[in-house]
Amino acid sequence: MPEAPVRTRLLVWLQERDPWRLEQLRAAADAVRRETVGEAVHLRGLIEISSHCVRGCGYCGLRAGNRGLARYRMDAGAVLACARQARDLGYGTVVLQAGEDPGLDRGFIAGLVARLKEETGLAVTLSLGERSLEDLAAWRAAGADRYLLRFETSDPALFRRIHPGPGRDRLRLLHGLRRLGYQVGTGVMVGLPGQTWASLAEDLLRFRELDPDMIGVGPYLPHPQTPLGREAHAGEVPNDVATTLKVIALARLLCPEANIPATTALATLDPAQGRERGLRAGANVVMPNLTPAPYREGYEIYPGKACVTETAAACAGCLAQRIRGLGRSLGNGAGERRMSGGRRPHELSRLAVTNAAPVRL
Ligand code: SAH
Repeated sequence: MPEAPVRTRLLVWLQERDPWRLEQLRAAADAVRRETVGEAVHLRGLIEISSHCVRGCGYCGLRAGNRGLARYRMDAGAVLACARQARDLGYGTVVLQAGEDPGLDRGFIAGLVARLKEETGLAVTLSLGERSLEDLAAWRAAGADRYLLRFETSDPALFRRIHPGPGRDRLRLLHGLRRLGYQVGTGVMVGLPGQTWASLAEDLLRFRELDPDMIGVGPYLPHPQTPLGREAHAGEVPNDVATTLKVIALARLLCPEANIPATTALATLDPAQGRERGLRAGANVVMPNLTPAPYREGYEIYPGKACVTETAAACAGCLAQRIRGLGRSLGNGAGERRMSGGRRPHELSRLAVTNAAPVRL
């Protein structure tokens, strides 16, 4: 598949507005999802273990400069209690997420991962930002299975602007994580101010190249206590549901075997149907929030986060109902990525199905 046509086709699909064509795209992604990862929707329980952060990301409410946030760090006992609840609710995985918090030191996380594995047997995913390879190696040795680190955008100038300060190269970290034996997740935000259609197409090509085990895509949601959130949104790419669904569908076609969540950010934009729309456009994972109530409001990466007042049990019940309502089943077990020996990406050119006008460039 020559490179230029794919990039061009992605650009055309990303900007497509015709409802009939968009339905073709959704249906193609849904069919590939069904064939490759099946009907099961995997639930990953999200535990937001610390809202402390030393970074100054322009988009994120946890940024160090946001003085208005009630910061917290959960202790090991509280995290373990959440994980037991996840196991009792039938989830196969817990995801420990946090700001970039040096207070979560190497030994603390290693000890916590070891206890989680021993006491619950759940798959453990970490999402703790840009950490040293030594930290990442120690956590892997302690039993961590997966690591999520979005590259956020493939446009280097935009990335520097929204993610200032010294940091580690996220792509190199992703390669390092894979060498350490982690299953690796990455992703981007859709509709960042200054994002272009061309860079979004590049993001998708990067997914294909990295072939991650998980791809998280959500709309960018402005937070008023951040520099980016105070700018008027004057980007080329809208931060809306329709554009996010296109990116999810295209990610499914390019990376047929990946685990793709219908994200909380998508549910925040469309509380009534966001998760369902994601799950019908190629997604096969949801990440219900297990963070205990007193902490949840202290983890405001963006305002109005969906389900912020729900208990873990209420979230589980609601999601199970939504999933069954789609005629899908609840996944059991860890929901490992299935490896069929490398299914080839979908030929986007074949998407022009009978009696559809071929994609004209
Ligand atoms: N400190 C970790 C976890 C950050 S929160 C890290 O940097 O990897 C997880 C994800 O939430 C981020 O990767 C980002 O893509 C998303 N996020 C943060 N702020 C957001 C916002 N304002 N709107 C939408 N998504 C946001």
